[in-house]
Amino acid sequence: MSSKISRNLAQIKSQLPKHVKLVAVTKTKPIGDILEAYNSGHKIFGENKVQELVEKHEQLPTDIEWHMIGHVQRNKVKYMAGFISLIHGVDSLRLIEEINKQAIKHNRVIDCLLQIKIAKENSKFGMGKDEAKTLLQSKAYSECSNVNIVGLMGMATFTDNMDQVRSEFEYLRDCYLEFKKSHPIFNTLSMGMSGDYQLALECGSNMIRVGSSIFGARN
Ligand SMILES: *Cc1c(COP(=O)(O)O)cnc(C)c1O
Repeated sequence: MSSKISRNLAQIKSQLPKHVKLVAVTKTKPIGDILEAYNSGHKIFGENKVQELVEKHEQLPTDIEWHMIGHVQRNKVKYMAGFISLIHGVDSLRLIEEINKQAIKHNRVIDCLLQIKIAKENSKFGMGKDEAKTLLQSKAYSECSNVNIVGLMGMATFTDNMDQVRSEFEYLRDCYLEFKKSHPIFNTLSMGMSGDYQLALECGSNMIRVGSSIFGARN
């Protein structure tokens, strides 16, 4: 018997080109829902709060690839450093230095994405393009042996104006392609959520973060 969750997942995956990864966003959703997705074969999950991420990681199978998609406070990095696969919301050198320190303790290299501010709203986290470029070229970052910045992440403005969303996604893609020239390790462009992932794919995304279209609306 296939559940609603596994059907939603299958439906979304059927639309994705082979090179695109789907992060199933499980924030606020119970373990049972995540297990339904897992049992249907999905292995990549994302959370936006460290505490919830750690609790779920402890209760679920160890072959899950966990992504941190929310804003990260430096004092919380230590709780996830032992297992996190990709941290999407990195937006400062100080945070990278803390991730590096914790990664060294765990004898791991942690992959990260720089979050670029592409939305017009003030509330969104993220760096400007020039700031990101300076960070990538900095001596301080080059000395972070256990952090790899492998791409960019962004969130478009929450609006029905798809022309605006498209131009924000295209801007992020152009940043990504430009940075990739000098950082060939770049392989991930994380953009697109339930409401805009089709458009994000048209604009070159290769990692989408989808929650409500899989698990239903959050309370
Ligand atoms: C919640 C969240 C998502 C998923 O949002 P949906 O609209 O439910 O698909 C994607 N990215 C980030 C950073 C989020 O916090």
